[in-house]
Amino acid sequence: MKHLITTALALAAAPAAAQTAPAPGPKVTYIHAGQLLATPGQAPRGNSTIVVRGGKVAEVRDGFVAPADGATLIDLKDRYVLPGLIDMHVHFYSSGYPMKSRLDGSGKDKEDAFVDAANAARATLLTGFTTVRDLGAPEPRGIRALRDAIARGDLEGPTIVNAGRMISVTAGHGDANGLKEDYAHAERADADHLCNGPDDCRRATREQIFTGAQVIKFAASGGVGSNIAGGLEAQMTPEEMKAIVDTAHAFGRKVTAHAHGKSGIDGALRAGVDSIEHGSFIDAETIALFKQKGAYLVPTMHAFESVIRQGRAGERPPASVAKAEEVAKVVKDSHRRAIASGVKIAFGTDSGVGPHATNALEFGYMTAVGMAPAVAIRTATVDAAALLGRADRIGRIAPGMDADIIAVAGDPVADVARLNSVDFVMQGGTVRKQAGERALFPARD
Ligand SMILES: [Zn+2]
Repeated sequence: MKHLITTALALAAAPAAAQTAPAPGPKVTYIHAGQLLATPGQAPRGNSTIVVRGGKVAEVRDGFVAPADGATLIDLKDRYVLPGLIDMHVHFYSSGYPMKSRLDGSGKDKEDAFVDAANAARATLLTGFTTVRDLGAPEPRGIRALRDAIARGDLEGPTIVNAGRMISVTAGHGDANGLKEDYAHAERADADHLCNGPDDCRRATREQIFTGAQVIKFAASGGVGSNIAGGLEAQMTPEEMKAIVDTAHAFGRKVTAHAHGKSGIDGALRAGVDSIEHGSFIDAETIALFKQKGAYLVPTMHAFESVIRQGRAGERPPASVAKAEEVAKVVKDSHRRAIASGVKIAFGTDSGVGPHATNALEFGYMTAVGMAPAVAIRTATVDAAALLGRADRIGRIAPGMDADIIAVAGDPVADVARLNSVDFVMQGGTVRKQAGERALFPARD
């Protein structure tokens, strides 16, 4: 009975409610695109209209369609429009200036480091990268806070898929190498990412997931950047790698392995990783393994270029320079071979090793070793989205996809260097950068 009365009262009140303004619907934006590369790897569509509703692409129509009543119009008729770019390998907590940050680091607390990371994230977004994987931060709680702040819209930056800390063996690429002992002990005080033996590596994987990691990264081999003469070959046993991969997959996380030397790459592929970062030493057997497993290579040539340049300029410690020179001799041939033989490639820079907000330089490095420009753009959109497991949300401009949309003047398929000058960025339907505006990141060399 009470229910009926409530309903009657509600009905009686209905006319009054109808007189108040209707609740506003989702924001609608029409984008007039001179050229539209809706699905990188396919032909562009020519004059098109993208209708964005509530942060998603609602429609893509041929020609320039007049906006509906109340909708906003964005005129990109003289621009080449494409999906927001995706970088599979950045480190927002690193600066890209190794010696300077080593000195700065001793005077910076984690609050200072968070501000630097937030600035790097914003600068990266403004160059057209609307999604990144952050593959290892000294402050996993900080990168998670940054990820969540960006997702809420409290801070500007790309959508972050975070790895927490890189899992490593003791004395491996992820340990606190090359510091005086009391500093090293301080660095290792909460080292939940160091593991030895399969059981311990299962624990380290679960620790990263506990701290909020959405993807797991481990150091299968030595690394160029670590200040230890530990070589570049496998540092983990096959059992340790398999323990990490199986544990991460059981929790629904993808796994990527930092690997330079052949034994590290092959071991990680056999253990079942979803991708390999760097991949410096690649031969025919390694290529066959990539294909058999369906794993992606993330070449990070941006980092190699930076490390070699920094090493020769005396900006890296000697143990790191020696490894950089060793890699420099072979890495371009390795990547050229992998690309020519059809290994799946996803775009990644390792920015943080080199300077942030120069990610698009990677397109030039990829085409220099034989990748077609259209394919290079596909690796940073369609292919990266597939490796992330988000191909249904990002990487293309089509109905139902997130409205992550960028624009450049001129055809980037004819000249990939144009992607160094992205001058329009929309993220989830919100304009982050207008054509003609400059990035507001403090200028560095
Ligand atoms: Zn890295």
